[in-house]
Amino acid sequence: MYPATSPTQFLAVACGGSKPDNRPVENPPWQQRIRRAEQLAEQHPFAAEVLTFYRHIANFQLELYHRLQPFSAGRTPVFSSEQPELSLLLESFTQFLSLVNEKAPPSFARTARELHNSSATDWSELLNHCWSANEQPPAAPADFLAFAFLQPYAEFVRSRVPLHLEGYTLPLCPFCNRKPVAGILRPQGDGGRRSLLCGFCLTEWEFRRIICPACGEENHAKLPVYTAESFPHIRVECCDACHTYIKSVDLTKKGLAVPLVDELASIPLDLWAQEHGYEKLHPNLLGM
Ligand SMILES: [Zn+2]
Ligand SMILES: [Zn+2]
Repeated sequence: MYPATSPTQFLAVACGGSKPDNRPVENPPWQQRIRRAEQLAEQHPFAAEVLTFYRHIANFQLELYHRLQPFSAGRTPVFSSEQPELSLLLESFTQFLSLVNEKAPPSFARTARELHNSSATDWSELLNHCWSANEQPPAAPADFLAFAFLQPYAEFVRSRVPLHLEGYTLPLCPFCNRKPVAGILRPQGDGGRRSLLCGFCLTEWEFRRIICPACGEENHAKLPVYTAESFPHIRVECCDACHTYIKSVDLTKKGLAVPLVDELASIPLDLWAQEHGYEKLHPNLLGM
């Protein structure tokens, strides 16, 4: 379905050390994500189908985020049956499933139809499981749909909680404890500092550059980084100790990139890494 990028297009690049720094999480830049998805779909026709679906999801997420705003005052960040927004979420899940049925690629659409015929209790179980299963990345299509549906809620809950990232050095999201979906390089001096991005609550936190976020490997020789001509600002950061990889979006090379969306668009890099025996640290919103 998508053209694989030839390994010969890849060049190993050296990565230099730098001192990372935390940055405050901004308000969710939904419009920016949607616009970036439009731009990238024009530039990369092979990713157009995925990005068009993402735009529908992002528009839905934006609307859900706004509908959640009235619940923002003084609530505890726990997803439970006592939460007042639960009924709004369950109500919105019907609309989400209809949207997926209409706009998604076939496997997701089929799952959406199956879920549509399930009971509200089943939905609660699915959403609760997704919310709390932070140690196990989503695997089945239903898990990804729940993940995509709850993502703006996670971002919303996260926005209500002050996070103290000073001195935080772990490779797991400091808010929801999930593994990162992508890395980000932000300009610092002559180089770039790396941070990691949670694909669920979208927290971004600093993380040293030369260390595997999966197994902690620090030997430079076992941490090859690959880039491709088609995506010069995206680095495929691999680990030859545990055979995982994560893609990092290099904002020192392309300041206009939106990491969450550029990560989605660079599908050939995932295909290349997986063909070469690396497993992704955490799949993205669309299951890649
Ligand atoms: Zn998180
Ligand atoms: Zn590793």
